[in-house]
Amino acid sequence: LIQLSFPLNFIGTIYRELKQGLADVEAMFDLLEVPEEVQDKPGAPALAVSEGTVRFEDVTFHYDVERPILKGVSFTVPAGQTVAIVGPSGAGKSTISRLLFRFYDVTGGRITIDGTDIRDVTQKSVRAAIGMVPQDTVLFNDTIAYNIRYGRPGASEEEVREAARMAQIAGFIETLPKGYDTEVGERGLKLSGGEKQRIAIARTILKAPPILVLDEATSALDTHTEREIQGALDRVSKGRTTLVIAHRLSTVVNADEIIVLEGGRIVERGRHEALIREDGLYASMWNRQREAAEAAERLRQVEESD
Ligand code: ADP
Ligand code: MG
Repeated sequence: LIQLSFPLNFIGTIYRELKQGLADVEAMFDLLEVPEEVQDKPGAPALAVSEGTVRFEDVTFHYDVERPILKGVSFTVPAGQTVAIVGPSGAGKSTISRLLFRFYDVTGGRITIDGTDIRDVTQKSVRAAIGMVPQDTVLFNDTIAYNIRYGRPGASEEEVREAARMAQIAGFIETLPKGYDTEVGERGLKLSGGEKQRIAIARTILKAPPILVLDEATSALDTHTEREIQGALDRVSKGRTTLVIAHRLSTVVNADEIIVLEGGRIVERGRHEALIREDGLYASMWNRQREAAEAAERLRQVEESD
C-alpha cells in the first residue's frame, strides 16, 4: 500500500497539472527532472522575507563526492543591491544560482535569506521569493499571454501588457497578427533567444519577487538587442536584491560588487575600477571581451556599408 501510494499521488499531481493546462511535454519534463535530493524538514515554515539580503557562508558543494565544485564561497548581496559573478566556464557560477534556488542543498556552510538558513524553510517559499531569468529560456508550448502570465496566474490582461511593455517586448508582440494569443514553442512561432529572454523578463516583472537571479546570455547579441535587454533587466532589477551571472560589460561595470570565481573559489572581488587596477584575471577577461566587442562592431559597420 505504501509502495503504491507514492506513484499514484505523483500521477495525480501530473494529472491535475495537465487539467490546469500547466503541463505540456516540456513542463512535465521539468517536473520529472527536479532533483530528488532536496527534502523539506518536517513541519518547515514558509520563508518570511523582510528586506531580501542573501548570504553565502563558506559554502561547499559537490554533485559527485569525488569532485568538489564549490570550495568555500562566501559573499553577501545586501538588500536591493547587485552582485555580479564572473569567471571562466565551469567555474561553478550556475551552480551558485541552483543552490540559491534550492535545486540542491549545500554540502557545507550555509545560504541564508534575511538570516534564515534556506534549509529550514519550505523549498516552495524560497522559490516564490526568487525570480529566475535563465540563460536559455524554455517557453511553454502555449500562447505568449500564457507564458507571461505564468509569473502570476491571477494577473489581468492589462497587467500582462504592462509587464510586456516594461520588458520591451510589447512592440514586437503587437506586430504579430494574433498578438498575445500567438502560439509559441515547438508547434508555434519560433522566437529568437533575445525575444524568449524578454518574455521571461516580463514573466518575472509580473511575479515581482524580492530577489532576482539572472543568468545572462553568453552569445554576443547585436547591439540593438543587447540595449533592449539591458533596459528590461535594469527595470526589473531596480530596488531588488540581484545576483547576476554576468557576461555583458554594462552589467559588471555597474555592479555593487563583482565576484570572480575560478575553479570553485573566489579569486578576486571588488568593484570594476579596483579590479581593473589589480590587473589580474578580471582585467584580462575584461580586455579580451572588449576586443571581441570592438571587432564585432567593426564587422557590423563593414556589413552595413556593403
Ligand atoms: P559555470 O556556470 O561557471 O560554467 P557550472 O556551475 O554550470 O559552471 O558547473 C560547474 C561544474 O560542475 C562543471 O564542471 C560542470 O561540468 C559540473 N556540473 C554541473 N552540473 C552538474 C551535474 N548536474 N552533475 C554533475 N556535474 C555537474
Ligand atoms: Mg553557467
